[in-house]
Amino acid sequence: MTIYSYSRINTYFTCPAQFQFRYIERRPSPAAEGIELFLGSRFHETMEHLYQQVPHRVPTVNQLLNYFQAHWEKHWKAALDKQKRENYPAALRIVQEGPTVEDYFQKGQLFVENYYHQYHPFDQDKTEGIELKVLFDLDPQGHYKMQGFIDRLGRDDEGVLWIHDYKTSSRKMSQEDVKNEDQLALYQIGLSQNSKFGPKEKIKLIWHFVAFEKDQVTAERNEKEIGWLKDKYISKIQTIEKAKSFPTKPGVLCQWCEYLSVCGDGKGWVENKKKKQGQAAEKPASPPEILPVPAGDALSKPSPERTPPSFNPGPFPVTEAPTAPDALPPEKPGNPTSAVLSSDSSNTLKQKGKKSRSRVVSVDQLSLF
Ligand code: SF4
Repeated sequence: MTIYSYSRINTYFTCPAQFQFRYIERRPSPAAEGIELFLGSRFHETMEHLYQQVPHRVPTVNQLLNYFQAHWEKHWKAALDKQKRENYPAALRIVQEGPTVEDYFQKGQLFVENYYHQYHPFDQDKTEGIELKVLFDLDPQGHYKMQGFIDRLGRDDEGVLWIHDYKTSSRKMSQEDVKNEDQLALYQIGLSQNSKFGPKEKIKLIWHFVAFEKDQVTAERNEKEIGWLKDKYISKIQTIEKAKSFPTKPGVLCQWCEYLSVCGDGKGWVENKKKKQGQAAEKPASPPEILPVPAGDALSKPSPERTPPSFNPGPFPVTEAPTAPDALPPEKPGNPTSAVLSSDSSNTLKQKGKKSRSRVVSVDQLSLF
């Protein structure tokens, strides 16, 4: 019996061909890891380390940044070795033109520092699990099974369990978006079936969009909604299991698909898009649209008291012609995704830490991802 994960199911509905490559044929990736995934993994490792340390001794911000840097360098070296071995054109795939690996490294440092200052001394809740595996049934007979990994599970002073998830993307979910985000609500089902927790626990969902100063988006799902969710995912699994063919579904995510180099339809879509962009560029330019940075919801700058460590990418090529990040994160372990945007502070995990300083991010920083 197949045990499904959220990303496995989502991959099928994003592009059945990608699902076939990854989960049926189990094709090794023909391309280097995407920079977005690389950065997300390093951030998650750093959070894991932080919350393992907190019960014993809260690290300083510099210690945490050094941890992030050491892990970035270690994995960067591994990526370079793999590049040589597999003959990839670059150690990491960067789709967006302009930013370098060094830029992404600095972005990661800002995420870590911003998170640290928002939540220090990390006593908003007590950690009950890090990278906690949940395995659960969608139906009473156990025909439809799912599993997943919770980034962090915390319990607050009122006994509420918070399912935390870290997001390094530049797009923060809106209230509407979050209503359709199912991953953490699925993990809620997992906790309700876990012998340590059970169905009586009060559970809240929280996403940290770490590219934003006000990073939290929170939600709750009631019993009725959880029932609908189970039915929805049973139906999705049935669709996958009945599938006889796995057609391509070309679209914007092809640029980040690890299988782009072996997918004719995807390549055609990307080339066509570039052609259209080229034609548009030849037309007289209209004034660029400047996106406003939401007030009070911007990324931090490095602390003035510290000199940010820099990252030397070494002598190997660090960028390549646009190819692909993974449209979806890989299945855990290694990575981690969401229900009602809370403007109501009663539905927000209290930030007992030091009040964060006023931070500003430029539009070009936000557009790194
Ligand atoms: S390149 Fe596009 S169409 Fe091809 S497998 Fe990937 S996502 Fe699907």
